[in-house]
Amino acid sequence: MQLNIKAIKGTQDVLPSESYKNQFVEKTALEIAETFGFKEIRTPVFEQTELFQRSVGDTTDVVQKEMYTFTDKGDRSITLRPEGTAGAVRAFLEHGLFNDALPQKVCYVTSCYRYEKPQAGRLREFHQFGVECFGTASPAADAEIISLANEIFGFLGIQNLELQINSIGCPKCRAEYHKALKAYFESYKGELCETCLDRLDRNPMRILDCKSPVCSKIAEEAPVVLDFLCDECKEHFEMVKKYLENMKIDYKINPQIVRGLDYYTKTVFEFVSTEIGAQGTVCGGGRYDGLVEEMGGAHTPSLGFAMGLERLLLLIEAQGIQLPEGRGCEVYIASIGEKASLAASEIVTDLRSGGISAQFDVVGRSVKAQMKYAGKIGAQYSMVLGDSEIDNNKAMLKNMETGDMAEVELDTFAEDFMNIMVQNAAKGLGDYIGGENFDLGALLGTLPQEE
Ligand code: ATP
Ligand code: MG
Repeated sequence: MQLNIKAIKGTQDVLPSESYKNQFVEKTALEIAETFGFKEIRTPVFEQTELFQRSVGDTTDVVQKEMYTFTDKGDRSITLRPEGTAGAVRAFLEHGLFNDALPQKVCYVTSCYRYEKPQAGRLREFHQFGVECFGTASPAADAEIISLANEIFGFLGIQNLELQINSIGCPKCRAEYHKALKAYFESYKGELCETCLDRLDRNPMRILDCKSPVCSKIAEEAPVVLDFLCDECKEHFEMVKKYLENMKIDYKINPQIVRGLDYYTKTVFEFVSTEIGAQGTVCGGGRYDGLVEEMGGAHTPSLGFAMGLERLLLLIEAQGIQLPEGRGCEVYIASIGEKASLAASEIVTDLRSGGISAQFDVVGRSVKAQMKYAGKIGAQYSMVLGDSEIDNNKAMLKNMETGDMAEVELDTFAEDFMNIMVQNAAKGLGDYIGGENFDLGALLGTLPQEE
């Protein structure tokens, strides 16, 4: 009887036939981040609940409704991380990373957990690629992380993403803004949702981020934070724009962006797509100058962003972008009988040590079935070993695509094959298969040696 247990609602399996896409996107993001000086940080999937309450903020949707919080067997309140910044900040403080050269640039690929209504682009377990840059107040850093996100999208060949930026000021200018917002929303007290009524006193800016249709309609006409910026915040925003222009990064100012987490100050931004439905924000981020201090550290102006990897993959799908598939089997060695099977195990071990993807029969099937399997897994080359091949130290290597055959010596095969693959890679011939002459070199696609 089939097990009647299914994956939990809002979670997703990534199957072997698809995982190359995730791997490619993650690798791309990490490698591009590295060129900007970001190094990977890994933090635990669960933390003390208080960490998120304090950093993400008590009045946010994330803390109020979306966290996976439970009491563990030691009676501690534990929460599965809903985002990556809080853990990174905790680690930055706990391990004294502030003593190292600043800015400290860290990045991560992590799973996140939020109890939300599952729909396209909105999961309960999702993944983010994120970066955090600790210890710089300069607008150059804001532009730099935006440029990093932009590079990643560009490298992946993604088009039509709109960069929207805004400034939500600092606590100084925000005090005035809060007053204005509160006055505005107070006149709609009868219509706001219950959560927003609570927010009215505690954090009226949160109302701007409410997803209820009534509240968001009211929010459309609300006072705009850009009109309340103090001189310093204004100047900062102007400089961010200047850097972006200098880096030739197009942007649109969207005064409606406030972001869903409380810790942001000054610059906030989103990369938005119209091609993946209602959940169009593929990347969101901004500055959080007060957070490190709030968490008990010294004043450390900082900033970061997070990309939703599932949304990014939806967009890649929607735009028909083909990502390079992982390596398939390069050599399959079929065998007849125990002696040949043992020899095959030795050759594949040597090939694998040299970085070649190689397989042999580990089922004990007939040669016919082995070759059928080799075809199914897309092996590029194959050979069949029996007693006579072993005794003569010779076998026929077959190019599975063209059917070309070449005789090879078994005792040096692994080394010969590796050498030729290396030469091919150096000549950029990785994809070139087959050749005129039936020698191993030609079979593997090398050019004739120069005189
Ligand atoms: P949204 O407004 O869509 O709820 P958010 O403001 O809550 O997003 P952030 O906390 O800034 O999102 O997270 C950064 C990114 O992570 C988002 O831009 C999005 O791409 C992705 N993301 C957030 N929540 C989810 C989710 N439940 N499922 C999938 N991706 C998500
Ligand atoms: Mg959200």
